[in-house]
Amino acid sequence: MGRERERKRGRSRRERRRRSTRTDWTGTLGLAALGVFAIGLIAGTILTTRRPTLKADRSPDLSGPVAMPQPQSDGNLTDSALNAAVNQLFLSLNPSLADNQYFPQFAQEKIGWILSQKKAVIFFIIFLKNTENTGLDAEDLMASGTVEGKSTIVIARPRFIGFLLEGGRTSAPFTLQERNDFALALVHEVVHLQNPNRGDPARLGDRMAEELRAWRETDLNFARQLRELNQPMNYRVIEADDALRACGDKLPCEPLRQMLLQTEIRK
Ligand SMILES: [Zn+2]
Repeated sequence: MGRERERKRGRSRRERRRRSTRTDWTGTLGLAALGVFAIGLIAGTILTTRRPTLKADRSPDLSGPVAMPQPQSDGNLTDSALNAAVNQLFLSLNPSLADNQYFPQFAQEKIGWILSQKKAVIFFIIFLKNTENTGLDAEDLMASGTVEGKSTIVIARPRFIGFLLEGGRTSAPFTLQERNDFALALVHEVVHLQNPNRGDPARLGDRMAEELRAWRETDLNFARQLRELNQPMNYRVIEADDALRACGDKLPCEPLRQMLLQTEIRK
């Protein structure tokens, strides 16, 4: 690592400390947060869709010295529009809303848990400008981990842009599938965060075990119920559900493992 990078990394740490106390969970931390995820990140392979529509977003543009966040626009989605979108999406999933009564109890509890953590200011959603060095695969929408003792859910900015553009709505009201997929992703991350024995995210074996567990929990307790209600959702969730059914809902489940492995081995 060059001196320039080292210097900027130091600045990032200071930036992180300063910002880590902020309560605005939709705040754009951007690159300043990158150093964080090299530490406590539990790999969170989440919903991916057929194929990213924004190829440019998948090409790391930070191979040179890390730059501080610049105002960005992708498909007219500015940082503030993305912040608003996350905020609106999250608020729209509040279990107390009449719209969300079709969520099973399990999902309502997990989303409720996020709400309770947020009030205690130990929950963050952080935008990354780029997923390089974060343990996130380019197709990951979310990841989670414990950062400085605080439960953290990360939303990868490039992937989130693709999620919105593919979903068809980039601001409220969102489509039913966007809401469902966002809820599924959040619940999946809470399943990770509530597990005190997540293993070592640096080890593929540990990651796979934890991912299989989280996908199964989220499928049996949430995705399957949505599917029975004919609710629209990401095709990958349906594939996972099919795989688990083929395994009698039990782990180990080779079809599910194969499905998740492709993403995990890239990390
Ligand atoms: Zn995961």
